[in-house]
Amino acid sequence: MIDTHAHIDSTLCDIIGGGPLDAVILSGASIESSKNNLLLADKYPFLCPAVGIHPQEIGDDINLLEELVKNPRVIAIGECGLEYLGEVDTKKQEEYFRKQIELSKKYNKPLIVHSRKAVDETIQILSEYKELRGVIHCYSGGKKRVNKVLALPGEWYFGFDGNLTYEVGLEEVLKAIPRDRVLAETDSPLLTPEPFRGQVNKPEYVKYVYQKIADIWGESFEKTEEILDANAKKLFGI
Ligand SMILES: [Zn+2]
Repeated sequence: MIDTHAHIDSTLCDIIGGGPLDAVILSGASIESSKNNLLLADKYPFLCPAVGIHPQEIGDDINLLEELVKNPRVIAIGECGLEYLGEVDTKKQEEYFRKQIELSKKYNKPLIVHSRKAVDETIQILSEYKELRGVIHCYSGGKKRVNKVLALPGEWYFGFDGNLTYEVGLEEVLKAIPRDRVLAETDSPLLTPEPFRGQVNKPEYVKYVYQKIADIWGESFEKTEEILDANAKKLFGI
């Protein structure tokens, strides 16, 4: 099993040793957390670091990111993207997003895209680039945008998190997506799945996302694990 999206700080103690997980992808949300991901990955081989600047962290200096991207252990750029919640600097968010897309192209590393209340804008920007690949993390674009994402140039995946276990509408979204484009994530320490909703999330709880996907697909856990792990390995080269 692979958790393809986690933020590790307070939950670190719970994942040392990995438990049932083969790998955990650490999302980078700021320069500091990206550096921290690299330090953690040096210590624990099953951790796979990504580096990036989240749209809520655009006070960080984007020019510091490329040096981190060059590290051969970095498997992806992100999370980066757009979040149009409340009063935000949409221009600067877009500038940071595009710069990280350029880094993804230049270093041939996939993108981890964060998109909240801005899925159409995100798809529009991604459609302007050729040969990109990545994941729309915690996909919230609904069934109606699935085909738009699949039609983007390059290869795009959809990330599903613990809210799949309690948001009824997400089941239909998952069903609309080809199985070879689905990834399981936790977004730890947030988005805790049932039966632990309300508590702090941790990477090993990704098994509840796997189980929910298996239930929706009408597939065995083992077969679902095989598909989801293969998808993660293909996109991230891990
Ligand atoms: Zn995240």
